[in-house]
Amino acid sequence: MADSAITPGSAALQDWLAAHLLPGADGAGQQVGPYLRRASDVPAAGPGTTLVDPASGRPFASVTCCGAEHVEAAVKAGLRAQQEWAEVPWLERTKAMWEFARRIEQNAAEIAALDSCCGGFPITHMEREIAIGAGNVYYAAGLASQAMGHSIPIPAPGLDFTLREPHGLVARILPFNHPGYVASRGIASPVVMGNAILLKPSELTPLSAIRLAELTEGLVPAGLVAVLTGDGSTGQHIVEHPQVGRVAFTGSTATGRLVLRAAAETITEVTLELGGKNPGIVFPDADLGLAARQIVAAMNLRSSQGQSCGSPSRVLAHRSIRAHLVELLAAEMTSIRIGDPWDPATEMGPLASEAQYTKVTGHIDRAMAEGAKLRTGGGRPAAQPDGYFVEPTLFDEVTTTMTISREEVFGPVVAVLDWDDETDVIELANALPYGLGAYVWTADLETALRMTRRLHAGFVWVNGQGQRPSGVPFGGIKESGTGADNCLEELLSYTRLKNVYLQQHS
Ligand code: NDP
Repeated sequence: MADSAITPGSAALQDWLAAHLLPGADGAGQQVGPYLRRASDVPAAGPGTTLVDPASGRPFASVTCCGAEHVEAAVKAGLRAQQEWAEVPWLERTKAMWEFARRIEQNAAEIAALDSCCGGFPITHMEREIAIGAGNVYYAAGLASQAMGHSIPIPAPGLDFTLREPHGLVARILPFNHPGYVASRGIASPVVMGNAILLKPSELTPLSAIRLAELTEGLVPAGLVAVLTGDGSTGQHIVEHPQVGRVAFTGSTATGRLVLRAAAETITEVTLELGGKNPGIVFPDADLGLAARQIVAAMNLRSSQGQSCGSPSRVLAHRSIRAHLVELLAAEMTSIRIGDPWDPATEMGPLASEAQYTKVTGHIDRAMAEGAKLRTGGGRPAAQPDGYFVEPTLFDEVTTTMTISREEVFGPVVAVLDWDDETDVIELANALPYGLGAYVWTADLETALRMTRRLHAGFVWVNGQGQRPSGVPFGGIKESGTGADNCLEELLSYTRLKNVYLQQHS
C-alpha cells in the first residue's frame, strides 16, 4: 500500500478529518476552509455534504456546505490579504509558490490518498498525478515575471504604456476528476499573479483542496487562499458575488452555461474548461497496435476510469481497418486490472459516485437498446459486488443517430464508428457542438497536417496521446470552453490590462 496511513475507514483518516474539519452540530466533521476555520468571525457550519468511499459505497465524513455567509467571510478575508500580497515583489511570490510546489511533492502520498478515498482513483496513479501537479506549480511560479505590459508608439508627444494588474479576487471552481492535480495549479496560477483565491472543489472530492490550501500557510498572507466546500449552491454564491473579479471554471458544459449566465450579471471575466466527446481518427495507414494502445491510454481508464475530459471516447476508424482495430481495442481493454484502489497493482478502480455509476450504466443500456454492438464489458466486474465499478466497455457498429455517438459519457465507454473518405471523417469529427481534443493516427505527414488544420478542436494529438507538458496550452473551443490552461496565456488571464497615457507638454 503506497500510503500506509490514510485509507477509507482507517484510524489515520479519522485523525486527519478530526484535525481538518470542524465538529458539526450533528457530531459529523464539518469544514469551512483552513483560514476561515481559524478566523473568529466564521459563521457556524450548517448541514454538510456526505463523502462516500466509491469502492464500498460507505459514507465516511460530512463536510460543510458553505452558504452565502461563508462566501462573504472568505471574500472579506481574501480582499484584505490580497492588498498586502499585491505589494509583494514577483520574485518573492515566485519563491513562495516554489516552496508550495516542494511541499506538494513532500506530501504527495497524503494528498493522493485523500483523492483516492473520495474518488476511488487507484492510489499508484494518483501519486504520479500529484507529482505532475507539483511540476505545473513550479512552472506557473516561474512565470510571475511575465506579467508585464508594453509601450505603444503614439503620434502625440508623450508616452503610452500598459500595466498588468491582478484582478483581486479569483474564483476557481473545480470538477471531481483529477482533483488534487487541478487544485494545485488552480491555487498557484492566480496567486503568483498577485490575486487572492476562492477555491470551490467538487462536493465529491474536497479533501485534497483543503490540504493543499493548508500547505500555503506561512507562505502567503492569512486569508489569501480559501477553500469553500459545498455543492453547486456554494459555487453559485461565489460566482454571483460582485467582488469576485474573475472566474475560472472547470466542469461540465451544462454547469459552464450557468456560470456564464451568472457572471453576466456582474460582467465578470470567465474562462471555461468544459466537456468533450473527442474524436480519435484512425487512418488505414496507421500503426494499429500503437493506435489501440494509445486510445486506451488516452481514455484514462487506468487512472480515472474514463472520467477524463480528454478521452477519445468516439473512435472514427476507416472502414478497411475497423474490424482489426476493434479486436485490438477489445484485447487492450480486457487486459486492464480492475480492483481495490489501494492495491498498488490496481489499474482501474470504481467510478467516483453513485450518480456517475447510474449515468454511465444508463448510457450503456441505451447504447444497447439503440443497436450498438457490445464487444467487451458492459457490466459490473464479477469480482466487485460492491461500490461503483463498471467494466471497460467497447461498442462497435455505432451510428451517428445513437446517443452514445454524441453525448459525453464520462466513464469507461468507447464507441467505434466507421468512415470511407477524408471529407466524411472531417464532417463526422466536427459535427458535434464540442471542440476539446482530437486525435489522428496516420503514417502520412501530409494527411496529419491536413487533418490538423481542418479539425475543430483546441488540442490535436498526432500519433500520440496524453502529452501535456507544462507550457502546452490546453483548452476547448465551441461548447468545450474558452481560454487555455497550463500555459503563459492562463497566467496572463489572471491579470487585467491598464493603459497609462503620459502627455508631454514641452
Ligand atoms: P460539474 O459541472 O457537475 O461540476 C463542476 C463544479 O461546478 C463542481 O464544483 C460543482 O459543484 C460546481 N457547480 C455546480 N453547479 C454550479 C453553479 N450553478 N454555479 C457554480 N458552480 C457550480 O462537473 P463534474 O464535477 O461532474 O466534472 C465533470 C465534467 O468536467 C465533465 O464534463 C468533464 O469533461 C469536465 N472537465 C473538463 C476539463 C477540461 O479541462 N476541459 C477537465 C476536467 C473535467 P458540486 O459538484 O459540488 O455540486
